[in-house]
Amino acid sequence: MATQTAIQIPGFRGELVSPDDREYDGTRAVWNGMVDRRPRLIARCAGTADVAAAVRFARERELEVAVRGGGHNVSGTAICDGGMVIDLSVMRAVWVDPVECTALVQGGALWGDVDHATQAYGLATTGGIVSHTGVGGLTLGGGIGWLMRKHGLAVDNLVEAEVVTAEGMILRASADEHPDLFWALRGGGGNFGVVTSFRFALHPVGPTVLAGPVFWAAEDTTEVLRFYRELVAGAPDELGSIVRLGTIPSLPVVDKDLHFRPAIGVATCYAGPVEDGERVVGALRRFGTPLVDLLGPTRYVDHQSGIDDTVPHGWHYYWKATDLAGLSDEIIDIVAEHAYQAASTRSYAAMFHFGGAVAQTPRKATAYSGRDVEHNIIIDAAWLPEQDETVGAAEIAWARGFLEALQPHGAGVYVNFLDSDDDTSRVHEAYGDDTYRRLAEIKAKYDPENVFHNNKNIRPGTPKPSSGRHLGSRAAVND
Ligand SMILES: Cc1cc2nc3c(=O)[nH]c(=O)nc-3n(C[C@H](O)[C@H](O)[C@H](O)COP(=O)(O)OP(=O)(O)OC[C@H]3O[C@@H](n4cnc5c(N)ncnc54)[C@H](O)[C@@H]3O)c2cc1C
Repeated sequence: MATQTAIQIPGFRGELVSPDDREYDGTRAVWNGMVDRRPRLIARCAGTADVAAAVRFARERELEVAVRGGGHNVSGTAICDGGMVIDLSVMRAVWVDPVECTALVQGGALWGDVDHATQAYGLATTGGIVSHTGVGGLTLGGGIGWLMRKHGLAVDNLVEAEVVTAEGMILRASADEHPDLFWALRGGGGNFGVVTSFRFALHPVGPTVLAGPVFWAAEDTTEVLRFYRELVAGAPDELGSIVRLGTIPSLPVVDKDLHFRPAIGVATCYAGPVEDGERVVGALRRFGTPLVDLLGPTRYVDHQSGIDDTVPHGWHYYWKATDLAGLSDEIIDIVAEHAYQAASTRSYAAMFHFGGAVAQTPRKATAYSGRDVEHNIIIDAAWLPEQDETVGAAEIAWARGFLEALQPHGAGVYVNFLDSDDDTSRVHEAYGDDTYRRLAEIKAKYDPENVFHNNKNIRPGTPKPSSGRHLGSRAAVND
């Protein structure tokens, strides 16, 4: 139990954690072990009323505000230095309505909570591919995952959200209520308020699906990527796939001799009958000479947590990312050249395949802006906290060099994959001119003083970040 902190928030029933409390260090830690920020107060909210009380208190005291969902954002925006963290991490309940096929999910839930609750009914919605990632940040940025080609992004499945605004008001945002806010929440990140609950549409999935990775030696990368490009180009929307370039993870299901061997993996999840999936992706395991073949019928809920241990809390992480309009031979060559140059066996790059329902949704329906993307790539440098500083510096240089080589082929970027040194222009790049401008107008309406700026910040009413007009009263953390 935390010791009694001296600060009290009127009407607050959750737990307040301050620097003198025993729980302080554990409570301020986030997924990326490189993030070391010291808030003045962490308000662990028990429900919507607490969130509203905490927002009002922070405004009255002019405290800096950060909002914590699952704490997974690589840039650590869930925590601020000084000020107050509005921490939703105990608000993790999920209520499933199997008749309406929806789930009401509290703002601090993790994807593992959602999958656990919804799969009990044989239902699912598009979520992240690691079960310890937060629903909050992932959804508000767009939400990509195995099911997106069949069922759309997480934001495409969002039916309504309960939001505490910068004024401490509680609003419901949906197609019928505050539709401008609802549009902005679906891709615009945590800029518009604290979402205390999300209601998602659910779909029948599994519970058994054909899923898992097949790995080949790194030397086969060019051939595998060319084969993969053809395979996914004509694949049905049920096929979700991700390419992983790095080393074979040291998972218990993998032969120890192969752990950390440089390799390309193609992981798939077929969101339809297993036998159909076998017809579509069976060709993968017959291509070339796989080192490891873990493709097979598996419980969807297990697949969703299958790689959790390869990206644990507390390691040091640094990301670079870009969207790719296509997978040309030139891009394949760049990827094959750079992917295996990381010194850390924990670093890797991953490419998600888009299209399907993501591309079929009208461009202006949501604030998410990557609907024309065919693939994206995230370059994930990872090393251990106890490793020498030079190791981290080398991994960061690898990620930057890899991105630089790809940049001429870049076609935007997914806002949730931006790191802390991705500046305002990259936030702008994530949205493009028109969407950024509309987001800025909606920001000016719901958060004119930029209270919620510890995020990938949209400046209130600012048509373009470079114009310098109508800046919020507080600076963005990612400038
Ligand atoms: C291991 C790992 C796997 C990932 N896999 C995927 C993936 O498969 N698909 C994908 O799309 N992304 C993925 N991501 C990226 C992920 O979407 C972002 O890191 C996202 O920010 C995580 O959300 P969070 O709630 O855990 O983060 P937090 O760090 O808690 O929050 C990040 C920001 O989101 C905002 N926020 C969070 N919750 C709320 C809320 N309830 N209300 C208002 N604002 C809120 C705040 O501004 C906060 O600063 C992954 C990240 C990691 C580390």
